[in-house]
Amino acid sequence: MKLGHKVAIITGSTRGIGYMIAKRFLQNGANVAICGSTLENALKAVENLKKEIDINPDQVLPFGIDMKDTQNIKNMVEQVISKWQKIDILINNAGITSNCSLLDSQDEDFYNMFEINLFGLLKITREVVRYMKDTGGSIINTSSMVGINGGKNQVAYAASKFAVNGVTKSLAKELGQYNIRVNAVAPGVVATDMMKNSVSEEMKQTLIHLTPLAKMATPEDLVGAYLYLASDEASFTTGTIIQVDGGLQL
Ligand code: NAD
Repeated sequence: MKLGHKVAIITGSTRGIGYMIAKRFLQNGANVAICGSTLENALKAVENLKKEIDINPDQVLPFGIDMKDTQNIKNMVEQVISKWQKIDILINNAGITSNCSLLDSQDEDFYNMFEINLFGLLKITREVVRYMKDTGGSIINTSSMVGINGGKNQVAYAASKFAVNGVTKSLAKELGQYNIRVNAVAPGVVATDMMKNSVSEEMKQTLIHLTPLAKMATPEDLVGAYLYLASDEASFTTGTIIQVDGGLQL
């Protein structure tokens, strides 16, 4: 059990990549706060997890949190502490994307993207670090290949993920003194609801063709990187951005 007795908060874990991370973390012995944008989705995810894997009901806590809402985030972190007394792992995975040219973009699109993908990440990280600094821990941010090489019609999303990479490296420098490691995972294209809504079938085939490993990732393909970074096996790894993209960016 790589994560036995560790406590993890995973944002955006009601579906897609986050759900699969939660599933594998639970199977590896972690206690997990399952977070989605509504409590209803979080409860549904917990119900599904209980059907799919053998877990102790005390191992999961469902939360509906809006990443834009500071008080909401604070309350969630406090409830996790009151149940498990510590937080060892924070996975900042909740995110939105958009496909929109610069000229078609509205101010609101920019603000919304940054409020969720960047400011929400900073707010929850700040609240968690208040506690994590006493015990040490691992923070893992979900970035994107678009946060490394940019993306056509994805300027707001790309800017938010470049910022996430900057946060990762800066906080690795700032929080190392507390034995808090901060890393990121940068997926390529992953078969989730987000991808279905933002990539056309034609684009999907082009991307598969350009990927040396010749397929589109599933959330399962991503989980190993999170598991490694969260575990004690990564005890001297901080400030890295691991690209898990089948070689798409080579
Ligand atoms: P998804 O749309 O399937 O899931 C997104 C999750 O984020 C959901 O659980 C949702 O509830 C949560 N969320 C969204 N807005 C929120 C808000 N305002 N408050 C709280 N929670 C909110 O997406 P996914 O594909 O699993 O993506 C997860 C992460 O991976 C994102 O950060 C995304 O940018 C990144 N990513 C995805 C891909 C891909 O191809 N799917 C590629 C690179 C990076």
